[in-house]
Amino acid sequence: MSLVTLSATELARKLAAREVSAVEVAREHLDAIFDRNADYGAFLHVCEEVAMDMAQSAQLRIDAGTAGPLAGVPIALKDNLSTRGIPTTCASRILEGYMPPYDATVVSKIREAGMVIVGKTNMDEFAMGTSTENSAFFPARNPVDVTRSPGGSSGGSAAAVAGFLSPLALGSDTGGSIRQPAALCGIVGFKPTYGRCSRYGLVAFASSLDQIGPLARTVEDAAVLSSLLTGPDLNENTSIQSGPTDVSTLKNGSLKGCRIGLPKQFFGDSMDAGVLSSVNLAIERFRAEGAEFVDLDLPSIQYGVTTYYIIAPAEASSNLGRFDGVRFGPQLEAAAGHIEMVERTRGQLFGHEVKARIMIGTYALSAGYYDAFYVKAIQVRDLMRTEFANAFESVDLVLGPTSPIPAFKLGELSGDPMALKLLDFCTIPANLLGAPAISIPCGHTNGLPVGLHLQADVGQDEKLLQYAFCAEQLLK
Ligand code: GLN
Repeated sequence: MSLVTLSATELARKLAAREVSAVEVAREHLDAIFDRNADYGAFLHVCEEVAMDMAQSAQLRIDAGTAGPLAGVPIALKDNLSTRGIPTTCASRILEGYMPPYDATVVSKIREAGMVIVGKTNMDEFAMGTSTENSAFFPARNPVDVTRSPGGSSGGSAAAVAGFLSPLALGSDTGGSIRQPAALCGIVGFKPTYGRCSRYGLVAFASSLDQIGPLARTVEDAAVLSSLLTGPDLNENTSIQSGPTDVSTLKNGSLKGCRIGLPKQFFGDSMDAGVLSSVNLAIERFRAEGAEFVDLDLPSIQYGVTTYYIIAPAEASSNLGRFDGVRFGPQLEAAAGHIEMVERTRGQLFGHEVKARIMIGTYALSAGYYDAFYVKAIQVRDLMRTEFANAFESVDLVLGPTSPIPAFKLGELSGDPMALKLLDFCTIPANLLGAPAISIPCGHTNGLPVGLHLQADVGQDEKLLQYAFCAEQLLK
């Protein structure tokens, strides 16, 4: 059997039992990447030498009996995670050739765990997008159907995992960028509670919303990887004090008695009929298992996308100020001094969507508009917190589709930026709240995967993963 089709935990078991070596595992995955990356556009950079070195040292640790649970298992990293000595571009021309001098905390943890980094994955430029068509280099493609988008912005990570180029990948999620591509590619994507996974070394998009998390083919794989990456970090002042995600009881849960809320705002008219029937089938399956369903009315959800598109660009306009040809980015020559140099550098090296967001954010924060836009958005965010906190007094989970439509054709929606942005209405609330949420596979419509979205209250990552594990078994 081919090693690339095994899950991360199955690979880890074979590695620990010495049935395969870490070098063989790495070699097979690299061969698969060289074979199929041109079809999927999943990787921007493949680090063959680094991977083979890491595999060799992982094997030494496995042999010495000092290896952790995922030692020797390959992983792909979204290209906005800083990797010492490995290019990090955020799929932007402005960072082309940039080599970070340090590792993101999650990358250090991956090295400590003895995992094998195979490459950096394609994404929408600076994680701004929903289709990976905003990559400055080339779009990523959905392995289920390469004429379609894998979703975004972590589309390369999703394509790598769904296309059997890597059993695991990391993505970042600001408004749904881990969960939506996972849904469109038929895999699992998990966004932990804000602050559980250090953002140190993640190139910031919107700092109050960004969170790093795993893409995997099973809930167990996603959970085990999370347990290795989470925990407090002195380098990051929003990292919270709770310990690493505890997955020791992952398989002990049951949906019996689980109270699941169905906000009517997640089941609007924009939902594709095939997606709706897959989600309804899942609901019936869970009900048969003893789950109890509660109808919810959470009006703030309808303002989620608008609120997000004030807060995220506002934060981005400040975060992206550092790409000015002085601190970061190549310097484009200009005769008329510093200002013109910055204008040329940013004007020529940022893509269209990034520039649009910087302008929206600058506008929303400018004197005279600050109260009307930014302050209002913060108020809606507070309102949403109150509404969801009340809801979570009577439910354990909130359920909906991850995306209202399955994978769309490349180019199909790129002419209509509003249509793409509106797709995120089920995933954005978790970011505004800082809550944990996961997308798991939930059947197909016309041969295309459907994703089921489960969200828990802030801090309930362990409980969410337990329920998601049960749900996954029932939907298999
Ligand atoms: N699709 C959303 C956006 O374009 C979310 C992106 C993300 O989560 N990084 O901003």
